[in-house]
Amino acid sequence: MSETTRTVTIPACAEHDGFHAMRVTLPWVCLRCGSPRGEPFETISYDGSRRLGVHGWINPCGHIEKYSEVRAAVAATAWEAA
Ligand SMILES: [Zn+2]
Repeated sequence: MSETTRTVTIPACAEHDGFHAMRVTLPWVCLRCGSPRGEPFETISYDGSRRLGVHGWINPCGHIEKYSEVRAAVAATAWEAA
């Protein structure tokens, strides 16, 4: 079964200092409901002091996913694969 994925850049941690980014390939579905996500676009993450160029997306289902949630999902997947 093939699933849709997208490779995007997201902040690697909450306080990224403008350069802690991570590039990840994700199953492109909403973490909350499993519906397809909106297409990624380039945006800016601001950690309170520095700006970082990352990707964002707007889900047609209306759910907002935090980068912290996406990182947790990536970590869980890596754990399963190990
Ligand atoms: Zn959703």
